[in-house]
Amino acid sequence: MKLEEIKTVGVMGGGTMGNGIAHVFARAGYRVILRDVEQRFLDRAMETIGKNMDREVKKGKITEADKAEALGRISPVTDIGALAQADFVVEAVPEQMDLKARVLREVDAVLVPETILASNTSSISVTALAAQTTRPERFIGMHFMNPVPVMTLVEVIRAIQTSDATFDLTMALCEKLGKKPVAVNDAPGFVSNRVLMPLINEAAYCVMEGVATAESVDAVMKMGMNHPMGPLELADFVGLDVCVDILDVLQRGLGDPKYRACPLLRKLVAAGWLGRKSGRGFYQYEK
Ligand code: NAD
Repeated sequence: MKLEEIKTVGVMGGGTMGNGIAHVFARAGYRVILRDVEQRFLDRAMETIGKNMDREVKKGKITEADKAEALGRISPVTDIGALAQADFVVEAVPEQMDLKARVLREVDAVLVPETILASNTSSISVTALAAQTTRPERFIGMHFMNPVPVMTLVEVIRAIQTSDATFDLTMALCEKLGKKPVAVNDAPGFVSNRVLMPLINEAAYCVMEGVATAESVDAVMKMGMNHPMGPLELADFVGLDVCVDILDVLQRGLGDPKYRACPLLRKLVAAGWLGRKSGRGFYQYEK
């Protein structure tokens, strides 16, 4: 498969990441088949994409006509068979190994052999996911950042099985989307979460041990290190439950106790204080 031959892209999952991924492919001129399990999830995804494109119109990045054309290129479907037409597929279903394995086997059975299959996983082994399919050499990790239409990085993760051709094509495709791909090899947490999660964890320890308040920890990192968001603000944005899950993956995968999740993080999760999405985490949010 050559870059010019990719015309139709399949996206599995229309949630936070999937609708953003469909958005950027449609904006770059690709036909997008967006698959979710229920019509109401697709309706929600299309509404979100429309609203996010409105924001781009307001900022003068695109015109109303560009928006209408891009939206017209997205076909929301519940039938997995519709993905048979896709030249490249990105999987963005929830971060559970069993679910991803099942979904990847299902989609693998529908696609023609040449189609490349990418996963947007943030912490599961891309090598293990590739092994679920009949096309491990055409399998790759494509870790988009949230919010997808805004963030330029795509962490491109090579599984041990990924062929050079698949890797080169995926890097080129990211560039066509206007993104900046950075190549990494498959390892727990890749680079993004391997570096970010210990930072968040240490910030949580500072609060737990009374070194400083959450506000002070974030203020030091923002003003002193030029981070646009403090680590605890960012943890609330990512979801504290997601942070704990990723730290568990790092600890299990790398076998080093330095990745052990801070007890305060676990306590906040146990209280249901998951961050922005639940209205409270390290900070309180308007519901
Ligand atoms: P989400 O829960 O917002 O969305 C997942 C969507 O997948 C839902 O709409 C769900 O209905 C759908 N789905 C479930 N089973 C399906 C199936 N069989 N076929 C098609 N769709 C199905 O999750 P999300 O936050 O978008 O995360 C998706 C992936 O992206 C995960 O692997 C996650 O780790 C990764 N990721 C998330 C973020 C983030 O900040 N949210 C960032 C980077 C990567």
